[in-house]
Amino acid sequence: MTTQAEYKKPLPRPSNPPHTKPFWEAAKQHQLVLPRCKKCSRYHFYPREQCPFCFSPDLEWVPASGKGRLYSYTIIRQPINPAFAEDVPYPFAMVQTDEGVRMISNVVGCRVEDLKVDMPLVVEFVDATPDWTLVKWKPA
Ligand code: ZN
Repeated sequence: MTTQAEYKKPLPRPSNPPHTKPFWEAAKQHQLVLPRCKKCSRYHFYPREQCPFCFSPDLEWVPASGKGRLYSYTIIRQPINPAFAEDVPYPFAMVQTDEGVRMISNVVGCRVEDLKVDMPLVVEFVDATPDWTLVKWKPA
């Protein structure tokens, strides 16, 4: 796990609209939760104020398995934000969780040359600042 001491650069902060607060609070506790519709029981991601399938506003946050697969990725070699300049090259990845939702994130803990589409991944929490824990993924 990357600690805050390793992140000395000024990082951009994720946006934090109220309906995403459970996701970030769980991440801070190193738990992955996903929004699920109480009416149709389908998971979705990114967090929304109503179900994207049946439009019900009756949603719940459910602990997730923390397992997934690399659905797709690209390698960032020229970051648009200077805060990430020392990280290049790094993967910008789409991870499909075992619950079936796709999440944009990074894969850490392996060389970019070793990434393979459909490789099994497990969630990894990175305490980027005292206030923010980021959800990333690493090889299983
Ligand atoms: Zn629904």
